[in-house]
Amino acid sequence: MADKPTVLIIEDEPNIRSLIETVLSKNGYVTVGADSAESGLKKIPNLKPALILLDIQLPNMDGLECCRKIREDPRSKDIPLILVSVQSSDIHKIIGLESGADDFITKPFNPGELLARVNAVLRRSRQAESAPVPPQLSDGFFVLDLDNHEAALKGRKLKLTPKEFTLLVFFLKSREKVISRDVMSTHIWERENLDTSRTIDVHIGRLRKKLGKYHWVIQTVGKVGYRYSPEGEKS
Ligand code: CA
Repeated sequence: MADKPTVLIIEDEPNIRSLIETVLSKNGYVTVGADSAESGLKKIPNLKPALILLDIQLPNMDGLECCRKIREDPRSKDIPLILVSVQSSDIHKIIGLESGADDFITKPFNPGELLARVNAVLRRSRQAESAPVPPQLSDGFFVLDLDNHEAALKGRKLKLTPKEFTLLVFFLKSREKVISRDVMSTHIWERENLDTSRTIDVHIGRLRKKLGKYHWVIQTVGKVGYRYSPEGEKS
């Protein structure tokens, strides 16, 4: 059975918080409560909730400010969030202002409505997660299109042979790690019965040439092998 999703409830009114906790825990959720924006924000990194229910009217930092902070933090920017407020007219403005919330609910709400919203937001977020992402590898230097075998370096298209492309993919996946010639021979040249050590060096040499002034991102590591180190010193 899959783990129960955790919902963080940031709500200063104990009776409302406990109502929400009761409804959700009866329906397959684990709940964690926080009575202020500050305490909720502190819990998020370790808790990694599947969803956040956030009251707007909170002491000190209000829910909108809290929502902005959640969206600014890379650790929490993608967590689905439902804002809770008293006045529905406020909520419409808030949503219009792109608060970063996925949905909203107004008080007073009935348990069925709350549950329906939570389920719907989580379902949408799961669908978004499982949507196929374009098969692409990229960092500040390279963009590798794995479907079409196209490579670009700092926006400039590279003309690579299939082997050079495979090498580059391997390097990007093993960023900053030393890759021995043995590993390359096994993983990239597979069972080709060649003098692979020399073959590898020749291919790396050609690949580096194609990288022009960025040739240094692929470094030779003693007699062992190579390392893709785009943050390394230019040599
Ligand atoms: Ca409140």
